[in-house]
Amino acid sequence: MSNSQISVIGFPLDENSSFLRGPAKAPDVIRKIFDSYSINLCAENGVELRNNPCWNDVGNVDLTTGADAMNQIENSIRGLLNSGIKPISLGGDHSITFPIIKAFAEKYEKLNIFHIDAHPDLYDNFEDNPYSHASPFARIMENRLVNKLVQVGIRTINPAQQRQIDKFDVEVHDMINFDSSMNFDFDGPVYISIDLDGLDPAFAPGVSHHEPGGLSTRQALQMIQSLDYEIVGADIVEYNPDRDINDMTAMVCVKFLKELLAKMS
Ligand code: MN
Ligand code: MN
Repeated sequence: MSNSQISVIGFPLDENSSFLRGPAKAPDVIRKIFDSYSINLCAENGVELRNNPCWNDVGNVDLTTGADAMNQIENSIRGLLNSGIKPISLGGDHSITFPIIKAFAEKYEKLNIFHIDAHPDLYDNFEDNPYSHASPFARIMENRLVNKLVQVGIRTINPAQQRQIDKFDVEVHDMINFDSSMNFDFDGPVYISIDLDGLDPAFAPGVSHHEPGGLSTRQALQMIQSLDYEIVGADIVEYNPDRDINDMTAMVCVKFLKELLAKMS
């Protein structure tokens, strides 16, 4: 292991997706675009990321299936955290976030999550799969793994999910009330979970569930960049290369990866 403070790690898992497979291909496509030399690897705050020793890429985890895969993800993240490294995970569908946060919760007593998504992902039971990508935040909240969950970009709250929001006291900033000047208040370190479908499909068409009326790339970046808290980890999930157009969503993933690396370094 090098002296890097941040490690990028890939979890090619999409078996917990409810509609389409595809996100398992995402980590390799994101890396291909990142390494393509078609882009500038300087983040907006001026941090150059190419050949910067502050981060490394530890590759993909060769995952099995079911609960075993969840344990592999949790153990991989635990290993990085125990080495003092801040992980940025590339999904994969959103099911990876529950085992990731299980490992984080052992290290951080007052962890907060800043979650960008079109969907609350709080279903108590979706298709009888406890690991469904529609349920990671239900698992996180019922296990009391975090201090606070803040969701932005949300635009699909049905009565079942509203009950879960109320039950777990989730702070939801839904799109119908979106205000670009809103501030976020956390007590303790923050983990950022970015589901690409939180963006409008005009900006990020490469997702399994198109939900119009979402965030612009700029709005999402601005919220992330203005978070004045210690960012201890992040994930970028639900990119589906099979649905992408000219790699434009892969480029959005790379953009988020660059900005997260620069902010966390
Ligand atoms: Mn979503
Ligand atoms: Mn999601």
